[in-house]
Amino acid sequence: MSEPLTPAELLAKRQQYMAPTLAHYYERPMNLVRGEMQHLFDSDGRRYLDFFAGICTVSVGHSNPQVNQRVIDQIGRLQHTSTVFLTEPMVNLAERLAQITPGRLQMSIMTNSGTEANETAVLLAKRFTGRNEIVALKHAYHGRSWLAASLTAIASYRVDPVPVPGISFAENPYCYRCPYGKVPSACALECAKDVENVIKTQTTGAPATFVAETMQGVGGIITPPPDYFKVVREITQRHGMVFHIDEVQAGFGRTGRWFGIEHYGVEPDIITMAKGMGNGFAIGGCITTPEIAESLKAGTINTFGGNPISATASLATIDYIEQAHLMAQARELGDYLLDALRGLQEEFPLIGDVRGKGLMLGVELVEDPRSKLPALVETKRVLELMKDDGVIVGRGGLHGNVLRLQPPMVITRGDCDRLVTSMRRAIATVSEQLASKTG
Ligand code: PMP
Repeated sequence: MSEPLTPAELLAKRQQYMAPTLAHYYERPMNLVRGEMQHLFDSDGRRYLDFFAGICTVSVGHSNPQVNQRVIDQIGRLQHTSTVFLTEPMVNLAERLAQITPGRLQMSIMTNSGTEANETAVLLAKRFTGRNEIVALKHAYHGRSWLAASLTAIASYRVDPVPVPGISFAENPYCYRCPYGKVPSACALECAKDVENVIKTQTTGAPATFVAETMQGVGGIITPPPDYFKVVREITQRHGMVFHIDEVQAGFGRTGRWFGIEHYGVEPDIITMAKGMGNGFAIGGCITTPEIAESLKAGTINTFGGNPISATASLATIDYIEQAHLMAQARELGDYLLDALRGLQEEFPLIGDVRGKGLMLGVELVEDPRSKLPALVETKRVLELMKDDGVIVGRGGLHGNVLRLQPPMVITRGDCDRLVTSMRRAIATVSEQLASKTG
């Protein structure tokens, strides 16, 4: 193998040949050349503890040997056929998905990404209801196609000024910045009831579907209150709408259950998935009830969707999550981390909020806990300092001021301690800088 490029050389080449719209983390990014479970290695041989898992995707570890071996065996036998031929991995995966998803969800369509999964789900909902409009949530992220970007409600990802028509947005269940100025203990779930306001005031009164992430990932690990989805489910049912949950980030064990919506005690009509589903292999999909699936009469071909390699990777990922008891681990370590992060919050006013479930956690940074002014510069600085310290975390939120912790689920308690130590150090440094800035 040739010598790796230096990070500066690689960055210059990327800037020469890749469109500038493709953003990258860090002022001084590293050249990542190798991964090993919860660790990544750069071209200088430095090791990083990865708490972002390739944007919440490498659910069971980088180059997980068990997953990789099954993929290698499969690639040696059969690599590609497309969906118009019968192959076992795709069909076996569909059967597994029916077993691990809640309620009556049974029929799958495999895709290559979360974006495509959401496209497919909306099409199903429109055909099933014979209606067109969609209600989504503010701060949502659903992908990069015209439709998925139109369902996305974060300005920086809504680059096309002419979105798909017929989409309206309800208020976000964002308790830290409650759109109604309430605190959770004194709220009447006005945000959930807003779905009905939106139906009555911004649509014809009969939309096809409601779509929401169980917990918004890009939106900043927004964690709806316990009864939020019960109220929304009842509203959508009363209005004859499909209830579609996007589990692209929260799915596949990360929150401590197979799917995040299971924490909320409601059964969706459609679940969309991707990311953690294939541990980094390109796969997505949607699963729905037999009645909804049957409503799409036109033929569907997906050249790569459910290909033997990605489907095998997904089956191996699901098996690994089960065999290594990673959902129990996500619950236990998630609680451990939440406690430790809340301890940090007491130490540093820069930390405005700590939230999440399992290994999908968010730490929101603010210039001042009273004004809650988003601390964007400081958040970027924390990311860079932690990287220099050998720890990778993600960033999200409408204002880009939320640290996202979505590691491979194979991390240990020691890794959690390392994360907290590194975050404490970075936040202490940035807090001092902020104090001197504000005088
Ligand atoms: N839905 C959610 C909730 C996501 O977070 C993402 C990706 N960040 C998508 C959909 C789109 O997935 P993909 O990038 O695989 O198209």
